[in-house]
Amino acid sequence: MRILVVGAGVVGLTTAVCLAEAGYDVHVLARDLPLETTSSVAAALWYPYLADPPDRVLSWSKRSLQVFSCIARESPQAGVSLVEGTELLSQPHGDPFWACAVPSFKRLDKPPPPYVDGWSCEAPVIEMPVYLIWLRGRLEAAGGTITRMVLRAMPADAQLVVNCAGLGARHLASDPSVVPVRGQVLRVAQIGVDRWSLDAEGPTYVIPRARDIVLGGTSAEGMWATRPEPGIAADIMKRAIALVPELAGARVLGHRVGLRPVRPSVRLESERLSQGAVVVHCYGHGGAGVTLSWGCAEEVLSMVESSGPAFRHIGP
Ligand SMILES: Cc1cc2nc3c(=O)[nH]c(=O)nc-3n(C[C@H](O)[C@H](O)[C@H](O)COP(=O)(O)OP(=O)(O)OC[C@H]3O[C@@H](n4cnc5c(N)ncnc54)[C@H](O)[C@@H]3O)c2cc1C
Repeated sequence: MRILVVGAGVVGLTTAVCLAEAGYDVHVLARDLPLETTSSVAAALWYPYLADPPDRVLSWSKRSLQVFSCIARESPQAGVSLVEGTELLSQPHGDPFWACAVPSFKRLDKPPPPYVDGWSCEAPVIEMPVYLIWLRGRLEAAGGTITRMVLRAMPADAQLVVNCAGLGARHLASDPSVVPVRGQVLRVAQIGVDRWSLDAEGPTYVIPRARDIVLGGTSAEGMWATRPEPGIAADIMKRAIALVPELAGARVLGHRVGLRPVRPSVRLESERLSQGAVVVHCYGHGGAGVTLSWGCAEEVLSMVESSGPAFRHIGP
């Protein structure tokens, strides 16, 4: 069966890989190619953030954690590493809802002042520009293609369309409940930082990669501006240095902004269009598209496998 996937961010590419490796004839259509997407801006730490509902987010995240752990072990060229790190809190807090998904999760006995609580664990860090190109190669090896195309509506000439348009679903799926939550980051040269650090207030994060370190961030709902703002970058740098003092003086390599596709809940469900084709919607992953990617992609595959005959008997 021929399947069109709309979107070449982490959600579209991961879904396309799952479908193509299961034997479907998969073609990705996207306005922005992988390195131009919001996904390429992500820091990207495995961490469920700004995505709902908690029960489904937990199971998608848990599955993705397993897959990323395998990729880190088996495919060193994919840009995925398992990295130890710490989240620090200014107020006492119970365990986060995702703690049960992470075998290495442990609470800190003595958080460093001024923090009063915190936890540490090993979690995947995904170097997105490397990883997206690796995913693209995996898709093409399974026979899939990617074509640049701006769509004004869902393609009507396919039996099955998977909608992974992220924020673009506002228009493509007429869904105003998907809103941008602007995030700004900067990259500095690697200076020997080998642990991730997070302070939920801000949010402030320091994510080490092979050759650089991503410093963040911001979370501004309803903001569409994609140009990095120098004042915000200076504030991020100040907060990051407060969290990881060794960063003082690190050379800045660049600045980026991405618009997280936030929705009251991730939309993963099928819909039959009036023309007969079926669309499986998979968008609205908020601040956790990387974290949820494998769990969601496998759920799309199982929906297609279980409803495949029904999808095949309709459409042109
Ligand atoms: C600063 C920042 C830090 C982040 N850090 C993390 C992190 O640490 N961990 C984590 O899990 N997540 C993180 N995220 C969130 C993550 O980046 C998003 O959840 C994720 O990128 C969403 O992926 P997506 O594939 O749904 O959307 P996108 O990457 O936005 O891709 C959407 C695709 O749909 C295409 N499209 C849209 N409309 C159309 C149209 N009309 N026609 C054709 N194509 C169309 C686009 O061109 C694009 O190819 C971060 C985000 C930001 C901004």
